[in-house]
Amino acid sequence: SDDSDDGGNNVINPGTAPGFPPFEYTQDGELVGFDVDLAEAAIERAGYEVGEWTEIEFDSLIPSLTQGNVDLVAAAMTITEDRQQQIAFTDPYYESDQAVLVREGGDLSPESVDDLAGAVVGAQSGTTGQDEVEALVDDGTVAADDVRQYDNYTLGVQDLENGNVDVLIIDIPVAENFADGRAVTIAFTIETGEVYGMGMRQDDDRLADINDALAEMQEDGTYDELVTEWFE
Ligand code: GLN
Repeated sequence: SDDSDDGGNNVINPGTAPGFPPFEYTQDGELVGFDVDLAEAAIERAGYEVGEWTEIEFDSLIPSLTQGNVDLVAAAMTITEDRQQQIAFTDPYYESDQAVLVREGGDLSPESVDDLAGAVVGAQSGTTGQDEVEALVDDGTVAADDVRQYDNYTLGVQDLENGNVDVLIIDIPVAENFADGRAVTIAFTIETGEVYGMGMRQDDDRLADINDALAEMQEDGTYDELVTEWFE
């Protein structure tokens, strides 16, 4: 490998969008989470140096990556065809579906999407949760005026607790994390079968090394240790 004077190709600068526990969030002023540990371990295992983390709103992660402000995005990002037009993804490292989060003890206890008729429904901007919200608008279940978009889900959960929004659509593991400690609860889930990948630029050759590292970590138990640490 060339580590002399190629402008820092040995360093991978990661970016993420905190406020998505336990994948990435801020604790005592520090960025922590499953994705943070997994990305750092994969970068190091692949023989690169972990640069500086940049915290970015979810909706701006892909532009930041394509513009070169960061080299790798680790943000519980679902691999979608739309996103694959713009960036490359590692092999999948986590599976999830969507959850419908409501206020605990509130008057709304929907059991299916049909019960969301007339509700005020929100999601974090640019997410697959927002895609689900838009589908409810498209099929006439929810009025366009009743849609709320949040820069991050932490703000959404606050609004849910305060009664400013009735429902948030959000990835299940994160919904479970918020339900454990905040005045919110999962009403039902929507099976989407999405898988997460880390994002890199399409012309970045280092992606293959990151994939090899992820595969090794899945084989040697490192991955399972991180799952136990952050999810159990
Ligand atoms: N997995 C969802 C998506 O990719 C949500 C990710 C997130 O909010 N960090 O859109």
